[in-house]
Amino acid sequence: MIRHYELIDKVKSYNPSCDVGLINKAYVFSMRAHGNQKRASGQPYLIHPLEVASILADLKLDDASICVGLLHDTVEDTLTTYDEIKDIFGREIADLVDGVTKLSQIKFNTKAVEQAENFRKMFLAMSKDIRVLLVKLADRLHNMRTMEHIASSDKRRRKAQETIDIYAPLADRIGLYAIKSELEDLSFKEINPDEYQRISRRLDEFIEKEELVDKVSHELKDELRNHGFEKAYIKGRAKTIYSIYRKMVKKNLTFDQLTDIVAYRVVMEDVKSCYEILGMIHSLYKAIPGRFKDYISNPKPNGYQSLHTSLIGPFGNRMEVQIRTTEMDEVSEIGVAAHWLYKQTEGGGSEGAQYAWLRKMLEMLNNTDDPEEFLENTKLDLFKEHVFVFTPKGDLVSLPVGATPLDFAYEVHSEVGHRCQAAKINGRVVPLRARLNNGDQIDIITNNGQEPSPAWREFVVTGKARAAINRYLRSKELVEHLRLGKDMLDKYLKKEGINLKDADLKPFFEKYNLKDLDAAYAGIAQGRLFPKQLISTVFPDYYKEALNEKAANERLVESTKSRPDKEIERDLSVGIQGLTPGISIHFGKCCNPLPGEPIVGIINTGRGVTVHTKMCKNLVTLSDQPDRWLSLNWDGEESEERVYVVRVKVQLAHEPGALSDFSTAVFNGAGNIVDLHIERRATDTYEIRTDIEVRDILHYEKIIAGLKALSCVRSVERAQ
Ligand code: MN
Repeated sequence: MIRHYELIDKVKSYNPSCDVGLINKAYVFSMRAHGNQKRASGQPYLIHPLEVASILADLKLDDASICVGLLHDTVEDTLTTYDEIKDIFGREIADLVDGVTKLSQIKFNTKAVEQAENFRKMFLAMSKDIRVLLVKLADRLHNMRTMEHIASSDKRRRKAQETIDIYAPLADRIGLYAIKSELEDLSFKEINPDEYQRISRRLDEFIEKEELVDKVSHELKDELRNHGFEKAYIKGRAKTIYSIYRKMVKKNLTFDQLTDIVAYRVVMEDVKSCYEILGMIHSLYKAIPGRFKDYISNPKPNGYQSLHTSLIGPFGNRMEVQIRTTEMDEVSEIGVAAHWLYKQTEGGGSEGAQYAWLRKMLEMLNNTDDPEEFLENTKLDLFKEHVFVFTPKGDLVSLPVGATPLDFAYEVHSEVGHRCQAAKINGRVVPLRARLNNGDQIDIITNNGQEPSPAWREFVVTGKARAAINRYLRSKELVEHLRLGKDMLDKYLKKEGINLKDADLKPFFEKYNLKDLDAAYAGIAQGRLFPKQLISTVFPDYYKEALNEKAANERLVESTKSRPDKEIERDLSVGIQGLTPGISIHFGKCCNPLPGEPIVGIINTGRGVTVHTKMCKNLVTLSDQPDRWLSLNWDGEESEERVYVVRVKVQLAHEPGALSDFSTAVFNGAGNIVDLHIERRATDTYEIRTDIEVRDILHYEKIIAGLKALSCVRSVERAQ
């Protein structure tokens, strides 16, 4: 168990200018915060943060990391808040503690291998600062070292599996080999205790019985001295138990068949000596062909450098020899953190040099020729573009940043997307356009009556969702166009009393370049073609007989080129349920329907559909033609920027400032006056007719209520 002053000494040993006061403050803060809390072992809780800080000091990390090691459980396990830590230790440390706390809250569920990879990605995405990850790894390492105190064997197993699936590969990814190996062995011992004991026993026997390691080390040392490499440092080290097990399983070997159970490391000061020693060793012992690897001129993607060779050793033993420089050796032990160390001693600790190794690590991860490794490594960077969320069953789904519940629904299945009616994030109902955050649990509520809306395309971010919505809308649109176009043409022909045979249509198809009758229906529904054009093409004399030719042509021109004054056309994406976009829609200028108001559609032969309010007086004249009526509703997902013009008639008191009060009231209601006429003046009142831009019926009603509250306003009514 490490003591506080020992931690300080350890930090000082590699960073003499460390901020002792700050580390002391973090120690005292953590001690107070954890108070009488105990570990599962019964020891004071404080031992844990102290040990975690000590592991971080072994990695030779900066003051902030050491402090975060001491503070890492205060927000999670005590009453301490982020703000308190920020006030005392500053934003940097507070953010790091916050990051560790967030990682601690992830609930792992590693039932599948591909899920484990996603969890690792999420872990990295959430780490943001690599120091958060380092603290979390140190935390896990100490917890694994003290795992025997956890009473529940279920929990021990779960933690061990999590460690081997998530934490050990992450440690490996950033070059923390020693931590990775220790995490693996500690986990393996829990997950497969029998195998662990068996290999452990064989390994002990192997090393003890032969006293092999010492004998070979001595022999090598003598030879090196004889050849002038007095300074070479030699160490024999056995492979870890888990790596032996993995190799036996992977290569289907017995323990006795393994050649590299013990690796001898030769460390020299310079690269040139490394190659000289390699040559010397190869002349002394028989090399095993195909086992030489030069990672000095070809470093591994994570920065590891060394020469590796396998030989038949001095006692007929098969052995692996690794030759490298002191710096390379540091890298192999503590990974990328070593780069920082060397950078500092070289450059004299310039501003920002502290984090040079972080940048260096990212560089290294990005510079590799092995495409598979490269992909694996670049994922690190790409995670920042991802957000990781959970299904209700706990499966992890990866989506691009900015994704919505709707993207999630389409990711699960296109049918789930199409029928998506509502969504819950962490149990709370949210809009379909809400943004997802890492770790959210998403619940999609489907309804078989639900259909994709064109508005959905505007806020989904995945290509998959957008493509599925487009596909659905296109097929739906086509069906609707055919139905409507056929309806419109049939009604026109019936009215004119014309019977058409298919053969009659050929000139019409040719003249308008149509593939078939369906194309004609679609054209009619979209307002691109008119039944009259069909009739005048098929029966050139038809209108001549009915009227004089000039009048007929005029009518044709009128219906194709201009529209009656009474109607204005609006963009079709306003979103009306009951129709799909592409169908020619007009809004009756007689009543200027507002979103939210009850509406009906009237099929106009040759001109698509006109939308009226249900209150519109003009509908009276159509009451005897129910077959032209379409039932319509406003789509709920109306975009907020769109405005509609509504015409109102107002009686104002004839007094000074009345008109100004009126326009101020409209302005205060966020309406916009686009036109204003004074229709009639009298001695005490005058009447104005004005066009106001509003968003929808609610907005309109709010403005009207504001107007009615004015003392100068006698009456307000919707004008036609
Ligand atoms: Mn902890």
